[in-house]
Amino acid sequence: MLKIKDLQVSYGGIEAVKGIDIEVPDGSIVTLIGANGAGKSTTLRSIVGLVKTKSGSITYNDEELLGMDTTKIVGKGITLVPEGRHVFPDLTVFENLKIGAYMRKDSLDEDIKNIYGLFPRLEERSWQQAGTLSGGEQQMLAVGRAMMSRPKLLMMDEPSLGLAPLIVKGIFDIIETLNKEGITILLIEQNANMALKIADYAYVLETGKITKQGTGKELLSDESIKEAYLGKS
Ligand code: ATP
Repeated sequence: MLKIKDLQVSYGGIEAVKGIDIEVPDGSIVTLIGANGAGKSTTLRSIVGLVKTKSGSITYNDEELLGMDTTKIVGKGITLVPEGRHVFPDLTVFENLKIGAYMRKDSLDEDIKNIYGLFPRLEERSWQQAGTLSGGEQQMLAVGRAMMSRPKLLMMDEPSLGLAPLIVKGIFDIIETLNKEGITILLIEQNANMALKIADYAYVLETGKITKQGTGKELLSDESIKEAYLGKS
């Protein structure tokens, strides 16, 4: 279980995260929703040691992650798929996948087979340069690459950003499949509707604070959430 307690993060004098508490139980899908600049990415980046935190604690299975090296955190089974995909454009799909396993010394064949099973499109394009893939294919590759580290907790920052609705549906289906295979998911989404539908539990972040929380179902039917985040849907 991942537990965030009273996390505070400032950039210079600006407080981006103002004391939040979040729990991600093993085996669950938890989502963080909120407008641009609410502090969602900062929270995920704090978990993997990519930003300096001001105070609070982040524990994974009761072990403190704050102050721990990012490589060591990834070694504990926590992986982040950052916003904007960030595949290595000059490398092939296959090479990108192999890089995701850079910390492992065992055979990768089984994992690659599994990822190609989830994303047949990647297998078809195994030798294509990643920079020439479509946006949706690059997102699949970013998820596939994260899978290569065999995460226990997979965190995703806006996986649906800029993708066509059908591709978004495919990505959300994969998230659910991975969860059923036992991977815990912490998901940031602007597409609150889709995220709440698959989430066991959700937090709403507004200007660095949690303003609401509940099961995905509860928040989907919450009038103020509907108005602010769900549009007419
Ligand atoms: P978005 O959905 O737009 O990605 P977010 O909820 O993920 O938003 P963050 O990216 O965490 O929000 O940003 C929270 C606040 O911190 C914003 O006001 C942002 O401008 C600021 N911020 C983020 N990163 C930095 C940085 N490296 N230096 C200074 N300010 C930053």
